Amino acid sequence: MNHDLCGEHFINGHWSASTGGIFDASNPATGESLNPKFAEATAGEVDAAVSAAQHAFLQTRRLDPRWPAALLEAIASQIEALGDDLPERAERETALPRARLTGERVRTCGQFRMFAEIVREGSWVEAVIDTADPNRQPLPKPDLRRLLVPRGPVAVFGASNFPFAFGACGGDTASALAAGNPVVVKGHPSHPGTSELFARAVAAAIKKCDLPAGLFSLLQGRSHELGASLVQHPFTQAVGFTGSQRAGRALFDLAAKRPSPIPVFGEMGSVNPIVVLPAALKERGATIAKELSASLLLGGGQFCTKPGVVFIVGDREHGFARQLKEHVENAAPATMLNCTLRDNFAERIAAHAKLSGVKTLVSARPSGSAAISPALFETTADVFLREPELHEEAFGPGGVVVDCDSPEEAIACVQSLGGNLTGSLHIGKGDNERLAGDVLHTLESTVGRVIVNGYPTGVEVGNAIVHGGPYPATTDSSTTSVGSAAILRFVRPVAYQNTPQQLLPPALQDPNPMKIRRLVNGEWTTQPIASRS
Ligand code: NAP
Repeated sequence: MNHDLCGEHFINGHWSASTGGIFDASNPATGESLNPKFAEATAGEVDAAVSAAQHAFLQTRRLDPRWPAALLEAIASQIEALGDDLPERAERETALPRARLTGERVRTCGQFRMFAEIVREGSWVEAVIDTADPNRQPLPKPDLRRLLVPRGPVAVFGASNFPFAFGACGGDTASALAAGNPVVVKGHPSHPGTSELFARAVAAAIKKCDLPAGLFSLLQGRSHELGASLVQHPFTQAVGFTGSQRAGRALFDLAAKRPSPIPVFGEMGSVNPIVVLPAALKERGATIAKELSASLLLGGGQFCTKPGVVFIVGDREHGFARQLKEHVENAAPATMLNCTLRDNFAERIAAHAKLSGVKTLVSARPSGSAAISPALFETTADVFLREPELHEEAFGPGGVVVDCDSPEEAIACVQSLGGNLTGSLHIGKGDNERLAGDVLHTLESTVGRVIVNGYPTGVEVGNAIVHGGPYPATTDSSTTSVGSAAILRFVRPVAYQNTPQQLLPPALQDPNPMKIRRLVNGEWTTQPIASRS
């Protein structure tokens, strides 16, 4: 390894650690403890990081508004420059295969470059200008100009299952920086060495771009108090969180109880319902069973988009469940990201197995350090509706097949679930279109992304993607945490009334010096506003 790890926090351009206790990472595949030991951040270190972020925020507000573009590109290059050290360390901390990690790095760097392009183009600030009309009756109309401005320091919490794409340099960090906000990351305690490597890349990029050091800090630790004090710090203005519903909700409640509440953009777990209609089952049931098992077991079932519950309509002979069972029982055990996640999964499926009316088709067996073989259950719609336990995410390699007598029963089951990240529908040529429409509209009202004749794993990073959904999938259904629109979480609109040209942000000045697309008096244009005589 070319980059030595120090186990300290990165605060305002320096690596340091006071005496807040220590912890270490372990290799989930072998159980071995990994070097070095990592320091637990103290309340004083939280204050130092967030105060430096606030200082950096005030400094960058004076810069050319496109300043984040060069930084984002430099971060992508510096992440690449980490070479094999990054996937090597991440593999030892997460047991995720090298090929998966290498692919995730491409996606991570791609996210930074995508936001760099958006910032450089500039129109993302949604500039709107309504010029004055002093002759309007009965009252003169003022000059009003609006755009999106950064909120201020953002606290970022990454998830264990995407150490790159949702980690210290994941989509939350990329989109918050792109909007012009400083970021303080609370590193995930499952992969602290990976987080430290990312912080080294950002540190080098900030230096290269000659930007304020407080723009990015990394605090390590595994105490809930650390996360809590970061969310409660008066300078923290927003939170980007990816993880479990339990933790997301705890942070959301803390943010709401602050003297001045702040938004928490929590992207949380999900069961991602799939509905298979009768003709789809008849026409391609065997193919769906094979493809669904692959999606269910992908990455050891450790995806927030894992299709955890499948509603099968009109399969009286239970042929589909049998086919799915064959694929699932032949799958190899998965080494999970850590022992706690494995034990939580084992506990949840043990609870499923005890429910009356739930049949265990494949029984999971823990093995190795953090490994477990997959599980599969079958039940009926009435049992599913009665047992809220089945509605909750079982994070790991397992799922539930629910036999429904009619599409209406499947609709009732989907409605009972509440918010989800995704919902999928399999339709055959012979399926009733009106009923298919009813199922689709039910999914649409409860999820962020509807998939037809496909599977939810694999999230495209682009302009049209929505990775979000109603609570409890997220704490704010109006946003997405993946794709270009993720930047809109970390801004707020400001209107300037009768403000002299020289005091306006460049995006709102008459000559349109940034050459961006603006809505001027109701018309989209890139043209300057003719000077008033
Ligand atoms: P997690 O246990 O919720 O941890 C996420 C972060 O929150 C960690 O930094 C954790 O650190 C902290 N935390 C946990 N409980 C806390 C509390 N009560 N107060 C303050 N901080 C707390 O989640 P995970 O195990 O990393 O990830 C797995 C989950 O993430 C799954 O449910 C998965 O579906 C979901 N996920 C969602 C998405 C999405 O985009 N929607 C993407 C990936 C994963 P400490 O434990 O040290 O406190």
